[in-house]
Amino acid sequence: MTDTATTSNIPEEATPKYTQVMETYDVVIVGGGVAGLSAGIYTARDGFKTLILEGDFESNVQMPGGALLLTSDIENFPGFLHGEGSELIAVIRTQAENFGAEIKTAKAESVIFATEPCELHVINSGSKTYRAKAVILTTGAIARQLGVPGEAEYYGRGVSSCATCDGDFFKGGTVAVIGGGDTAVEDALYMRRFAKQVYLLPRGNDLRAKGPEAREAVILDEEPDSNFDILWSSTVETVNALENKVAGVTYRDANDQLSNLDLDGVFVAIGRDPATSFLSGSGAVFDSEGYIVTEPTSTKIAGDTVGVFAAGDAVDKVFRQAITSAGRAVEAALEARAYLLTATRKKC
Ligand code: NDP
Repeated sequence: MTDTATTSNIPEEATPKYTQVMETYDVVIVGGGVAGLSAGIYTARDGFKTLILEGDFESNVQMPGGALLLTSDIENFPGFLHGEGSELIAVIRTQAENFGAEIKTAKAESVIFATEPCELHVINSGSKTYRAKAVILTTGAIARQLGVPGEAEYYGRGVSSCATCDGDFFKGGTVAVIGGGDTAVEDALYMRRFAKQVYLLPRGNDLRAKGPEAREAVILDEEPDSNFDILWSSTVETVNALENKVAGVTYRDANDQLSNLDLDGVFVAIGRDPATSFLSGSGAVFDSEGYIVTEPTSTKIAGDTVGVFAAGDAVDKVFRQAITSAGRAVEAALEARAYLLTATRKKC
């Protein structure tokens, strides 16, 4: 369904650093997690020339595979009985590629959205610039950091935000998982596969996580001989290091006393923020926490732009499930299709 590209009224000088000849797509999907890949299955299967920018591995922003790569066990995604998040994402990725979606490992750095159907959207990535008639934003969310001394310095040298990626490095060691939500509880239970001792440090005296895993964590904590302990109401103040790698944390305990915990690894699992900063100045509208705002009954983003849709964790702060992200992203793909078949075709 690819046409010869319509001309853009966006001046070339708007993107001076991105010099390579632009490629034009019917749809560029920014973000290669479950939402982006699901949208890509639909747009590519519909015959639209589709590019998925899946991000890069340099940071935890726009990471290829997205949040599913951080998930150890998936058993509630319909049609996928049980397995690692990475296995599920590999299947969805293959499915998108089989329908002709092109996937590039590259991070969108800035975008300029069109405000008229005959304009093309501009997506800048590394040294390349892509143009698209429609864009679907599925960049997800990024792991929050504690912001305490030592955390950033020793990231990758004992500090991690991905137990499923890095857990194996801590075989036979002692680790702490900071947080009390579903991610922290899942990560802490997962780390029992590797570590000889696991501590979970929620900052409150209750877990935010309420599911079966949370109950399992509390039961394990109460078992005297388990290798799993919850240190309730703990606030980490510093990540400590010895010989250039993590040696422990200093935390304020439930009695407001400072204590040290000797550790080989620290997993920070305190929630995520939407990965939307690259959209600054694009015409996208955000709420007070940086989530993309869409129109009330549509995936079209709010504001004056045309042909831009969004789904997944960059939009949704309520459900945040793989299946809800995938479902909403498919709605975005169908709305992009309707847009491409009507707005751009009739008027340009
Ligand atoms: P959440 O926002 O649910 O939880 C964040 C946790 O981190 C809370 O316990 C919070 O404490 C704590 N926290 C936040 N900031 C700090 C800080 N500065 N210092 C110490 N602790 C801090 O994030 P999650 O990533 O756990 O989950 C995100 C969403 O994804 C949720 O909706 C969750 O249900 C969902 N999810 C579902 C899964 C599943 O169904 N299997 C698996 C993983 C995630 P406090 O509670 O005191 O605010």
